[in-house]
Amino acid sequence: MEAELLNGSSKKNKTAKKVKIAVAQGDGIGPEIMGATLKILKAAGANIEPSFIELGEQVYLSGNTSGIEKNAWKTISDAKIILKAPVTTPQGKGYKSLNVTLRKSLGLFANVRPVTALHPYVKTNFPNMDVVIVRENEEDLYAGIEHQQTNDVVQCLKLITRPGCERIIRYAFEYAKAYGRKKVTCMIKDNIMKLTDGLFHKIFVEIAAEYPNIINESQIIDIGAAHLAAHPERYDVIVTSNLYGDIISDIAAEIGGSVGLAGSANIGKNIAMFEAIHGSAPDIAGKNKANPSGLLNAAINMLAYIGQTEIADTIKNAWLTTLEEGYHTADIYNNKFSIKKVSTSEFADAVIERLGEKPKKLPESTLANGTGKITIPEYKRKEADKQLLGVDVFIDWKGSNPEEIGKILSNISAFKLKLKMITNRGVKVYPKGLKETYCTDHWRCRFVAIDADINNSEPVYKPVEFEQVIALLSKLHNEGMDVIKTENLYEFNGKRAFSLGQGE
Ligand code: NAD
Repeated sequence: MEAELLNGSSKKNKTAKKVKIAVAQGDGIGPEIMGATLKILKAAGANIEPSFIELGEQVYLSGNTSGIEKNAWKTISDAKIILKAPVTTPQGKGYKSLNVTLRKSLGLFANVRPVTALHPYVKTNFPNMDVVIVRENEEDLYAGIEHQQTNDVVQCLKLITRPGCERIIRYAFEYAKAYGRKKVTCMIKDNIMKLTDGLFHKIFVEIAAEYPNIINESQIIDIGAAHLAAHPERYDVIVTSNLYGDIISDIAAEIGGSVGLAGSANIGKNIAMFEAIHGSAPDIAGKNKANPSGLLNAAINMLAYIGQTEIADTIKNAWLTTLEEGYHTADIYNNKFSIKKVSTSEFADAVIERLGEKPKKLPESTLANGTGKITIPEYKRKEADKQLLGVDVFIDWKGSNPEEIGKILSNISAFKLKLKMITNRGVKVYPKGLKETYCTDHWRCRFVAIDADINNSEPVYKPVEFEQVIALLSKLHNEGMDVIKTENLYEFNGKRAFSLGQGE
């Protein structure tokens, strides 16, 4: 079964049934910019039917710590599309982030943030920048699995999954195809994280091969982020995991000069949410001076998503023309290019007056040029042969000399498992560590089968039964060792599926 992510069928059919949209007016400037946005959408003939939902500050303050009314969930699941103005998170503890709640509850796996320079009307050093960041939204270090394990050490689990990678990477290529983009760049750090980022990269290469007409390239995230900041015009679509995406999408918005103008989309299998990237701006709320462009751009992306690409282009072209002609809200007003400082409502009227016009200098909107359809196939698991080869036992030990714990554990290892090595913060410290390596109270002790050949540079492991692991743990515990966690060592389809210690 295919998951339909974009309904391109209503592209030309003006008599088609109206598409239901759950609309959250938000807080602060939210109602003003939403009013302006909906007025423009209506004037342009967008075929939508808004249903208003309650979320944000008032809901929080009524004692609902999630910030969203119960009956709003029903409207969302009926409409499947949300257009959301920014909300205010009240100060103080106990309030949950509404965005995280919506993203996780609704499975919004992709965060899509286009950033296009509007030079010279909006100041930027990169006049030709036109990049879309596709960020994985649910996994990675944001899974929120953190533990303190010893006095000195805390850990956060980085989870990268095959279905998660396939979904986001395929989405990036399908997005490129649907919107006529030419290149997809993958950003990873697999020179260090060979299994997690390695999987993301491997799946990128697999999926890229299915799109021969789209150029693909991979970059290590550190140099990739540096190049993005210095030469953003070299990038088209970038796909990356959650943390890297969080960072580079802010870099992109900042250097594009359009933080206040950019919209973003959060895409799920059945539900999608569109919003501006800025907040509720309480300092200018109620003054009719906020720029509605961020939310308007989010709404344009929403129209493209539901297949109303021609209307999306019409609105975008009118918006670009308005900016070109110098009708600017206070936040982007400048002496060189502005001819009139307009209010929120005047800006909306100026866009409406220009519906049907095309920009003369800025590039025209071309959302209707793509195929207009994104489909993501259901994930199909391929079962692999899984074999246990040993166990990493993490021990809280307050000594500082690796030789000491190494000798204790070498004597303890018994039955069918033996100690292979010990690392501290990933660096091998036993056997034959360097005395300069700083050691904490967190020791990773690797046990493998007694008949494994561990003297090779690529050791030959032997199968281990889980009962042997249990027996080892019991023995370690009885000898007074403080076992804080274990990680089983596996091979899948005969391939080692754990990293070596640094220096191993
Ligand atoms: P903000 O983005 O609301 O404001 C930062 C500055 O930018 C302010 O000076 C503001 O006046 C200006 N600004 C923002 N949007 C503007 C617009 N459309 N037109 C003109 N000027 C604009 O950030 P903040 O002040 O840090 O946050 C205010 C509230 O918004 C907080 O409660 C925060 O939690 C919330 N917030 C919500 C979202 C969201 O709902 N997605 C995102 C970010 C912040």
